[in-house]
Amino acid sequence: MSELKTYQIRCPRCRQEQPAGLYESINVKTDPDLRQKLMANAINVVRCEGCELSFRVDKPLLYHDPSRRIMIYLVPMADDAVENSERLFAQLLMNLENVLPAEVRPPTIGLVFNRTELVERIFLLEAGLNERIIEYLKYLLFTRNADRLNPARKELLFNAEDSTAESLCFVVQDVATRKLEAMLKYDRGVYATLAEMFDRDEQTPRLLELFPGPRISARALLLKELGREPASPES
Ligand SMILES: [Zn+2]
Repeated sequence: MSELKTYQIRCPRCRQEQPAGLYESINVKTDPDLRQKLMANAINVVRCEGCELSFRVDKPLLYHDPSRRIMIYLVPMADDAVENSERLFAQLLMNLENVLPAEVRPPTIGLVFNRTELVERIFLLEAGLNERIIEYLKYLLFTRNADRLNPARKELLFNAEDSTAESLCFVVQDVATRKLEAMLKYDRGVYATLAEMFDRDEQTPRLLELFPGPRISARALLLKELGREPASPES
């Protein structure tokens, strides 16, 4: 079931307040149209009764696809407020454990910080890809193209639409302008080799070490590394 809750929302243009129903969670098995709405950027969009402005309200949202066992929690947050988001997320997991019967193991829930990341993650999981391996490929792309891909200014997004049986596509996005700038391809053979390694050895220490979760992001990892003394990622 999807969960809708009423909030008192103020229009950012004319400041008029009105009650608005906003989604806490969407279940795309019971409400498949909500997946479409999310892709069309039409979830939690409010139309002001005063000035008719349509605007999106960014709030936490749980995306649930029971058929594919996908659960992703979106906590809209600026890069500098990451700690707060991770605290919110821990709280959600705790609430969930209280709700579930003792014998049920809580599901794995992904954590994303904006709608773009959420949509990217949905497509990636729907394509049967592993988010840690995809982020690892991004990590390699970032570090091998360090001269033109500065993680402070550029984001890499997995592009499911243009990926083929031979190659996986990534789009370079400028963080400030949100413009998509270039396309990078990665041989799918590399993914397959990594996936095989990952399957064979559940520990796959390097991947799990790099991306322990709940947030799995090459860019966040690189920014963290850059914030420290310039140390080798191998150390
Ligand atoms: Zn208004």
